[in-house]
Amino acid sequence: MDTLTPPSPEPRPYGDVAAQPVPEVPLLPAGPLCGLCGADAVAVWQRRLTGEELTQQVEWERERRARAVELSDPQLPAPVFGPLPGPEDFVRPVYACGPHAITLDLATLVHQASCSAPAVADLPGCSCTPEALLTAAAAPVLSSTAALPDHWVVGGE
Ligand SMILES: [Zn+2]
Ligand SMILES: [Zn+2]
Repeated sequence: MDTLTPPSPEPRPYGDVAAQPVPEVPLLPAGPLCGLCGADAVAVWQRRLTGEELTQQVEWERERRARAVELSDPQLPAPVFGPLPGPEDFVRPVYACGPHAITLDLATLVHQASCSAPAVADLPGCSCTPEALLTAAAAPVLSSTAALPDHWVVGGE
């Protein structure tokens, strides 16, 4: 006589599961890597974009603006954009492992696009003259320090 129970799939042999080799999964890097040796990076600093990288950024911005105009409501005033971005608007991170890191002082500065770091010949320095830090006098003042939280005031009383 027929049963209403659907035929069960072939039982899996338990023993085989453990015996099967685990396929190799390529390990993705967990984070940024040293630009010189490819080890896990522990240090990072910034540099300006090369001419080519900047051209690409400006091109993307042009496309974004063209798209914004294309999608804008014709019954509203056309979108208005500021000047196109320039070299001062971008930085790129540069990563390095411990042995290939530049000095901490240098890492606090923005380096030129042509900077060689991390290059063994120049370590722990670099080949460029980094941009000077904004001095307190040159830094833009958004509001009086009285309005800043205490932990934002450097060297305050
Ligand atoms: Zn390295
Ligand atoms: Zn540099």
